[in-house]
Amino acid sequence: MKLDLSAESWGRVIAYTVLGTAVCIAATLYVDHFNFPTLSQPELVRTILIDIGLPIVLAVPLLLFFTSKLRELAIAHRRLTVYAATDSLTQIMNRAAFSTLVEAFLADVQERREGSAAAGALLIIDADEFKRVNDTYGHDSGDQALVAIASTIKSLLRAPDIVGRLGGEEFGVFLPGANTDRASLVAERIRHRVAETHFAPKGPQHTLSVSVGGAVFERRLPFADLFRHADQQLYAAKQGGRNRVAIAAIRHGGLSLVA
Ligand code: GH3
Ligand code: MG
Ligand code: MG
Repeated sequence: MKLDLSAESWGRVIAYTVLGTAVCIAATLYVDHFNFPTLSQPELVRTILIDIGLPIVLAVPLLLFFTSKLRELAIAHRRLTVYAATDSLTQIMNRAAFSTLVEAFLADVQERREGSAAAGALLIIDADEFKRVNDTYGHDSGDQALVAIASTIKSLLRAPDIVGRLGGEEFGVFLPGANTDRASLVAERIRHRVAETHFAPKGPQHTLSVSVGGAVFERRLPFADLFRHADQQLYAAKQGGRNRVAIAAIRHGGLSLVA
């Protein structure tokens, strides 16, 4: 079993306390050892016992107190970091956290595989005629619809994929390593599943729908360019009648339509 020594673990609290106490004992013994030759046998035993006992009595509670406070701080820090990165309504990443992560992925690709191929896709998903949903059912029901859309999208993604709320009724999905086939598959699945989502706040069931714009890249490129291409495809999907997917592959600076 591997010992957990992370900043939030009790393992670290205990390790620091034991280590700190051992250092205190070593320091007192070192200071006192100059006097050892002058002491009688019983005095020597008493001095050594005091040198060991005193640090244990004084240092252990102090070190335990301070290191457990450090642990509480580490936990609070993580909670705050998660809170700052999470959209309060849908509980997925907010725009800032999402774009930071995607940018970090693209920068990483840039550093490690300079000049070599790297693939991935960005999808932008926008709820169709959402203003009408709010106008018909009220803002609170609109919020519920956004929560339902977010959890539908989340349920269709796998481990390395990233999802975030870009703002309003717009979501972003980043698929590291995805090619055009997978990007289209995921986008179509999201579109289908949202249309199947049960949304009946009051009265008859309402069919939600989303339009998806996507850009697939095969070579490194700046996040802003990737976003612009995906947004253009979203616009095309809206223009094409909504409840549809439009994806383009970015190849050698040019674009070719995929779906
Ligand atoms: P389109 O199909 O062209 O995207 O039409 P749309 O009505 O979805 O787009 P538009 O940009 O005109 O309106 C977006 C609406 O989304 C308006 C706004 O009230 C609603 N909206 C944005 N954020 C929230 C939110 O947090 N909760 C709720 N309930 N509604 C929101
Ligand atoms: Mg919309
Ligand atoms: Mg929108």
